[in-house]
Amino acid sequence: MPEEWVRQMQNQVNSLEKLEKYINVTEDERHAIETLQTKWGVSPYFASLMDNDNPNCPIRKQVIPSMQEQVNEFGMDNYLVWKENRATDEVRPDSIARQYHDRIAFTVIETCAIYCRHCFRKELVVDQDLQLRMDVDEGLAWIAEHPEIRDVLITGGDPLLLSDDKLGHLIGRLREIPHIEMIRIGSRLPIVLPHRITEGLKKAIGGFHKVPVWINTQCNHPKEITDETEKAVYELMSCGINVGNQAVLLKGINDDVETFRELHQKLLRIRIRPYYVFYCEPAPGIDHFRTPVEKGAELIRDALRGHTTGLAQPMYVLATNIGKIPLMPDYYIVDKNEKEYALRNHQGKTTTIPNIPE
Ligand SMILES: *Cc1c(COP(=O)(O)O)cnc(C)c1O
Ligand code: SF4
Repeated sequence: MPEEWVRQMQNQVNSLEKLEKYINVTEDERHAIETLQTKWGVSPYFASLMDNDNPNCPIRKQVIPSMQEQVNEFGMDNYLVWKENRATDEVRPDSIARQYHDRIAFTVIETCAIYCRHCFRKELVVDQDLQLRMDVDEGLAWIAEHPEIRDVLITGGDPLLLSDDKLGHLIGRLREIPHIEMIRIGSRLPIVLPHRITEGLKKAIGGFHKVPVWINTQCNHPKEITDETEKAVYELMSCGINVGNQAVLLKGINDDVETFRELHQKLLRIRIRPYYVFYCEPAPGIDHFRTPVEKGAELIRDALRGHTTGLAQPMYVLATNIGKIPLMPDYYIVDKNEKEYALRNHQGKTTTIPNIPE
């Protein structure tokens, strides 16, 4: 008898017939599913969180194809090649994306439990226009030969879809490389398929070790958080794995003050530490999800900083080919002269502190 998470994957909701068991499909949704050449699908668990009748349901919008994906006014062609520096002189395996000196992103799998419509790796994961050779041994050999790499970020697709054996092997091999100090895994599974967090997985990647594993998941809306999520996160932490969140700022899904605040409060309530909020990247075919650039900083100013627990503050970043660029709300310092700084808080009150010369 396969484990529940395997059965969920075998029964991925990826046809109109299956989808109709969960929701009343609209004409627009039906048209997009029938005409767009795109990979789509969602775990039965995550599908069960969709609203039957509301096409604006934040979960429906993230997983069901839309005709708007054909519009591409602002997306960049060959986005991933630009973003992941794949056209540079340094010779690297396809599985290794590099933007920094001391850490790399290591792509090990191309499948996912849900195919997010806003995915910035869409060309690779969803549309499959970009073909890369994902050879884990080749990637491991490259890492072993680069002593400056101390942090490996395992990504995909969704790396936690690898079997316990494959994950155990991969993590074990990385831990044997003397210069590797930490391992990070980017996975949506704690949110979209929490059944994956099994005793077998905990054994394969967790436990006390000098080379810790950190997981960053992606949760974009409070509706994605359930009792199952809470349990999965607790299980990961109980074997020494910290869980952070990397949300994507999505127009009409989480770009209003109430939703944004509730998302970050609810994450902390289930022990997930908000890490990043990403600007929705200029990948092709996702214009309809994108907000103005400043929006994320405004939301941190209006929904989080000062309004709620300091731990609930992610850093808002623009992911680019030269790395992640943070964008802070810049209204806190209202004036500065030789004598003092004038500061404003979240309620609009101001105060001053002395300006100390160097
Ligand atoms: C995001 C990313 C990292 C990790 O960045 P942190 O700011 O350390 O979380 C590393 N390499 C690549 C290519 C990335 O895109
Ligand atoms: S789970 Fe991650 S890689 Fe997969 S479609 Fe969603 S955002 Fe893209």
